[in-house]
Amino acid sequence: MQHQSNTHTSVNPIPDFDLSKHNTLALPSKAEYFCRYKSISELLNLLAYANKEKLNIKILGGGSNMIVQPEVKGLVIQSAMTDVVKLSENDDSVIYAVDAGLTWHDWVLKSIKFCAYGLENLALIPGTVGASPVQNIGAYGVEVCQAIEEVRGIQISTGQWMSFSREQCDFSYRDSIFKKQFKNDFLITQVIFKLSKVFRPQTSYAPLKQMAEQFLSTTNVDANENAKSLSAQQVADWVINVRNSKLPDPQIIPNAGSFFTNPIIEKPQVDELLKQFPTMPVYPVANSTGKLVKVAAGWLIDQCGWKGKSLGLAKMHDQQALVLTLKPGASQQDLLSIQQAVQADVMNKFGIQLRPEPQPFY
Ligand SMILES: Cc1cc2nc3c(=O)[nH]c(=O)nc-3n(C[C@H](O)[C@H](O)[C@H](O)COP(=O)(O)OP(=O)(O)OC[C@H]3O[C@@H](n4cnc5c(N)ncnc54)[C@H](O)[C@@H]3O)c2cc1C
Repeated sequence: MQHQSNTHTSVNPIPDFDLSKHNTLALPSKAEYFCRYKSISELLNLLAYANKEKLNIKILGGGSNMIVQPEVKGLVIQSAMTDVVKLSENDDSVIYAVDAGLTWHDWVLKSIKFCAYGLENLALIPGTVGASPVQNIGAYGVEVCQAIEEVRGIQISTGQWMSFSREQCDFSYRDSIFKKQFKNDFLITQVIFKLSKVFRPQTSYAPLKQMAEQFLSTTNVDANENAKSLSAQQVADWVINVRNSKLPDPQIIPNAGSFFTNPIIEKPQVDELLKQFPTMPVYPVANSTGKLVKVAAGWLIDQCGWKGKSLGLAKMHDQQALVLTLKPGASQQDLLSIQQAVQADVMNKFGIQLRPEPQPFY
């Protein structure tokens, strides 16, 4: 289907729109044009307008995973659509269609209220539902792809409505088809989730395991009943507590969460490094038949002395070396300087190339 203009809905893009409060790094930036849409007909009108005016479409969610550049050319659009619709259910599972504009954490809390499980470990990740498949958000042993059934939206270059099954999304660690073939060319309007009616706690991640063991040791139930006595809200609360204790609140200290992805490297290189650095934390990579290993980027940065260290108006966070924070008045250049200095030190010490997780938005 081609973009169609709907004369009943007007389009009012705002020129020279200040994006500094719309990105969690609080970087100074102006969008050539900006508009939020509240319905599919408004969205189609915006796409038609951009087509007519020859403006590139740029998609903004919560701005929590991007390095916004000083000038963003074209028309920045943001979804204000937040509906959740139950599509179907059976004895074991329930399927919901969730609009892209809903805040991710609100959806996690809603799903728990609906007694639909699988998202608890992903509580408090900033951003929107629409962005969640883009980098296959993950935390505390769970990735969102485990709960995604389908992703729906519009291909920007053709105006075609499209739908991707979980397999077609080509999900992997912090990656999906929306960062590859469809990078900047697919507007996600809805994500379809398949959630379980039975709560199965995922507490393999060390701090959660500790909290679960502590909690269960105080309850008077036998071992087989233990797992059943945990609630999804309880696990979400633990995740929220751990995150609050480790990660700076972007409202107070501008940041984009983990700034670098954990590097994935070949096993022989890791084996060599482990001879020199036996305490280096490494994790197996799923489906790599043992050939690839993930290394904890935060540990590498910490070992290079960057934890709590500043450069200009940028700093690697005191509690978590992987989080790059910015001070008031910081610019894109401050960010780039510390990024490059950290990358160079990690390369010199370990021979490993760190790659930023947030992508430039321009
Ligand atoms: C304090 C903090 C903690 C974090 N912790 C985690 C974590 O534990 N795990 C994790 O995986 N991430 C984490 N992140 C990163 C971030 O929250 C996620 O990547 C989130 O999904 C980004 O959502 P957003 O709406 O802010 O996306 P944005 O930053 O607005 O956009 C990110 C990218 O997705 C694209 N995009 C956004 N919406 C759409 C859409 N509807 N259709 C198509 N493309 C779209 C944008 O164009 C851009 O390329 C953290 C960030 C912060 C600040």
